[in-house]
Amino acid sequence: MKIKLVGTGAMYTAYNSACTLIDNKIIVDMPNGTIKQLLKENINVGLIDIILITHMHGDHTADIPFFLKYIFNYLKSKKNIKIVGPLGIKNKIIKLFNAYNFEDEKEIEQFFNIEFIEILENEIEIDNYFIKSYLVLHGEEKPALGYVIDNKLGLTGDSGLCNNIEEIFKKSQMIISDSSLDIGDSCHLGINDLDYLTKKYNKKVLCTHLRDETRNIITKGNFENIIVKEDFYEIEI
Ligand SMILES: [Zn+2]
Ligand SMILES: [Zn+2]
Repeated sequence: MKIKLVGTGAMYTAYNSACTLIDNKIIVDMPNGTIKQLLKENINVGLIDIILITHMHGDHTADIPFFLKYIFNYLKSKKNIKIVGPLGIKNKIIKLFNAYNFEDEKEIEQFFNIEFIEILENEIEIDNYFIKSYLVLHGEEKPALGYVIDNKLGLTGDSGLCNNIEEIFKKSQMIISDSSLDIGDSCHLGINDLDYLTKKYNKKVLCTHLRDETRNIITKGNFENIIVKEDFYEIEI
C-alpha cells in the first residue's frame, strides 16, 4: 500500500489541510486546495476513483465539487467515482455544488457517474479494499468517522481520544492521525494522546491536521513513533 500525505496541516497554516492519497486510487478527505495541490505534484488525478470522507467540515470536503468537475467536465471521463462518507454526504455535496453555483442535482445525476455510499459504522469491500469505519469524537460534529483500510492503515479523521480511536490503533499497522493540539480535547487529539497511544499499542503515527505550534513542538521533541513530515511525503506499508 502506497501512501502519500497530500496535506499535513490544519486550516490556518501554509500547509494543505489533512488529505491522504492511497495507491493513487483512494483519497481520504478533500480540503480546499486539494486539486491544485495534486496538480502541483503532477499526480494523475484521473486515477483516483474512491473518495473517503471523514466528516462534513469544509477543511475535509470543500474541494469535492472541483474534483468531480475535473474528472467529468475537464477529463470528460465516464468512469464511476465512489464517494464513501458519513450519512448525509450526498446531500452535503449537492449543497456544495449549489453554494458554488455549479451543477444542480439533476445535472449531477445526468452528467456525472457517482456512486454515493453513506455509512456510519460499517465494513465494506470496494475494489478489493476492505474498509472499516468507526464513529469518532469530534465535538458537536456528528457523525465523524475514522477508518481502517485492509487491517493495515488507520485514519483517525478529526477526533478527541475515545474508545474507537483506541480500536483504530489496535487494528492498524500505522496510523495517520489528527495531531492538532499540544493537549488533546473532545474535538482533536493532542501530543499527550499520541504519546499515550503510540506507547500503549507500539504503533507509529504519521501526523496530519497539524497546527504550526504543534508541528514545532513535535519536530523539536524526542518522539520515536510520532512522525512529522512535509506535504507530499510518501511511504509504503
Ligand atoms: Zn473537523
Ligand atoms: Zn479538520
